[in-house]
Amino acid sequence: MIIELETLIEDKPGTLIKMLMPISENECNIQGIYHGQKREEDNLIPVFAKFEVADTRFRDVMEIIRKRYAELNIEILKFAPVGLMGKETKQKKKTVLIVLDGVTDVSLPELDNKTPLEVAKIPTLHRLAEEGICGAFTALGQSALVGSDTAMLAILGYDPREVYTGRGPLEVAGVNLGLQPGDVSLRCNYVTITDEFKLLNRTAGYPREGTEALEQALNQIRLSDPKVEFEFRNSQDYRCVARFRGYNISADVSDMDPNYNAIADALDNLDLLEEGESKIITAKPLKPTPEAKNMASILNEFVIKAHQALEDLPFNQDRVARGMPPANGIMPRGAGETPSLVSFRSRWGMKGACVAGTGLIKGIGRLTGMTVPDVPGATGYVDTDYLSKAKVAIELLQENHDFVLIHVEGIDEVSHDRDVEAKIRAIEDSSEILVHHVVENVPDDALVCVLSDHTSSSFHGDHTTDPAGIVIWSKGPGFRKDQVSKFLESEFSSGSLAKTEGKDVMPLLMGYMQRLKKFGA
Ligand SMILES: [Zn+2]
Repeated sequence: MIIELETLIEDKPGTLIKMLMPISENECNIQGIYHGQKREEDNLIPVFAKFEVADTRFRDVMEIIRKRYAELNIEILKFAPVGLMGKETKQKKKTVLIVLDGVTDVSLPELDNKTPLEVAKIPTLHRLAEEGICGAFTALGQSALVGSDTAMLAILGYDPREVYTGRGPLEVAGVNLGLQPGDVSLRCNYVTITDEFKLLNRTAGYPREGTEALEQALNQIRLSDPKVEFEFRNSQDYRCVARFRGYNISADVSDMDPNYNAIADALDNLDLLEEGESKIITAKPLKPTPEAKNMASILNEFVIKAHQALEDLPFNQDRVARGMPPANGIMPRGAGETPSLVSFRSRWGMKGACVAGTGLIKGIGRLTGMTVPDVPGATGYVDTDYLSKAKVAIELLQENHDFVLIHVEGIDEVSHDRDVEAKIRAIEDSSEILVHHVVENVPDDALVCVLSDHTSSSFHGDHTTDPAGIVIWSKGPGFRKDQVSKFLESEFSSGSLAKTEGKDVMPLLMGYMQRLKKFGA
């Protein structure tokens, strides 16, 4: 029997040993220990431990440990066996959750006031709506405009208002760069800039091949603060990440990307530019603390040194010679400290996997302890290999995973580009290749849930607060349907799931999987 334990211990020498003693004294085999971030308000650190104990003894041992902790004044936050071995787990149902990022849209003039879903040929998605139950969906309630990252956290049962610390750490986890409490992580773009840091191309013309040379050059930069080290890593194309570790640093710094979170007094020198031009913004501390001031100056130094390191690289000389924009600068944003997330398995008692092509969602998978495979052909764009993702998901389900998330990013990307034709094609491919393969190959009693995390308007080129949609379906018996027969924006709200929010998704699925604990008798 595997037991997961979460406690709060004081931040002083010897307390961790004291906490582990009762576990090791009782012949338990400790499999892992992890501590979260210190809580400023009471100086306590959350510590997670996982250990194995003989099936016949687990109740006695848990009782002994519970008593010991009461004597030692150690607070227990969670103490429970993981899943249950043997027959019982085998009988429990499984779920494939397919998130079609921003699939719902608004009425578009170029489609005779129809939405892309209303035009697309998607018999498989309509079949699920017809045979399953549907509802309108908002990740954080009707009044919140959400990003894909905060929406996904809410869907997986984590309240982003409590756990979200910024985009940076999720992106860093997405490239599998290790994170420790206190690290400050940022998402960056490779950009094309002038020597005055004017932005000429905010994606440096999508460099794809040979960007390792850029990463190598950047990792050789020396910062003037000897107590801070950094690691730079490419993600995809122009996307990259930076992780800072050390003393006197903080995530309370403004974004350097003029399209994001530009605070008024950070727009220095902007009035010197011609209309329509923009410039990498100097990072400013967002709080008057020494840590925030130091972090801002580290970032400004880093961006200047990055330009020097990149400008004359053969990689860029070659691009210039071929008339392509050089990747001669980096533009950081989304600073965040390492979030402390309880594992998906502790939270729901299920072994989860996350099949995604985009770093942000892979990062959420890694930070919640899910299996995150590298899927051949998954690009996070509309040229992704839909069938490959579906096949990997089915394999993970057949192995030993109870819950597999498949995330399809491309639909949202082309909505931001207002490319309606590409969106219709991506919707059709998702429905008839990816969802179709899943539906044909899941076990009869498994659930398939398809949802749009938010509406992405191809008219506005951004997310909107319009309700999105959810459908839950199963081949097997014992499952009821509602009157909705089409996977369409106009239909979802007449379904029996009515107004579903992100926090409802996992409990709903747990209920249909017969894994929910009953409240009451
Ligand atoms: Zn999204």
